[in-house]
Amino acid sequence: MRRPIIAGNWKMNNTIADTKTLINDLKPLVKDAQCDVVICVPYTDLATAVAETKGSNIKVGSENVHWAEKGAFTGEISAKMLVELGVEYAIVGHSERRQYFGETDQTVNARTKAALAAGLKPIVCVGELLEEREAGKTEEVVVRQTTEAFKDIPDDELVNIVIAYEPVWAIGTGKTATSQDANDTIKIIRDTMANLYCPKCAENKVRIQYGGSMNPKNATELMAMPQIDGGLIGGASLKAEDFSKVVNF
Ligand code: PEP
Repeated sequence: MRRPIIAGNWKMNNTIADTKTLINDLKPLVKDAQCDVVICVPYTDLATAVAETKGSNIKVGSENVHWAEKGAFTGEISAKMLVELGVEYAIVGHSERRQYFGETDQTVNARTKAALAAGLKPIVCVGELLEEREAGKTEEVVVRQTTEAFKDIPDDELVNIVIAYEPVWAIGTGKTATSQDANDTIKIIRDTMANLYCPKCAENKVRIQYGGSMNPKNATELMAMPQIDGGLIGGASLKAEDFSKVVNF
């Protein structure tokens, strides 16, 4: 019932020339994908990515979006500016933003609302740190992050939002959560959404990805889990062949 969605997160990688090459290598490899395919790219690559993906089944996302419509926010980019470029998705609250750039549950909520208001589809990231996991706090952390991120967001917007469960200790480390662990934590997030909205909303409308060292070797097993609706892919999204293998899980 929930259409899978695989999204790449290029992070701070790829020049405009790299963007052209990667997308044109990717297009034929993912053209028959049975899922939504998204690439989230640096701001400087967005216009090129939109142009190069035109007419294909690849959608383009940004890696962040500001909460204000406009104003004195040097270095920031608004949702309206992204929509104007033809961007459809925006990652919000990635753990690297939380860790290095002071992102909080409150700013994640503000960015999510601004994205939705402008017609962008946010990919909202939640996930526990290694020390939180070791202290048995995974559930507490993901419930809090999810609850705060969705504050004041009406249920008719749920179809426009994707949640990415990304255990921070699994990002870029080569360590993947076991498929059972990922499934169990995503179930906790779905139950949280059921409590915040309604069980049917959580079951039918909310797509939840797994992210954290997902690659061609583990994608099939992760995607076979009943709660996992897709993946947010960092490292493996930088090579067309690897990303296409995940997309064609
Ligand atoms: C990410 O950046 O969201 C991510 C999951 O990275 P990686 O796949 O490299 O762990």
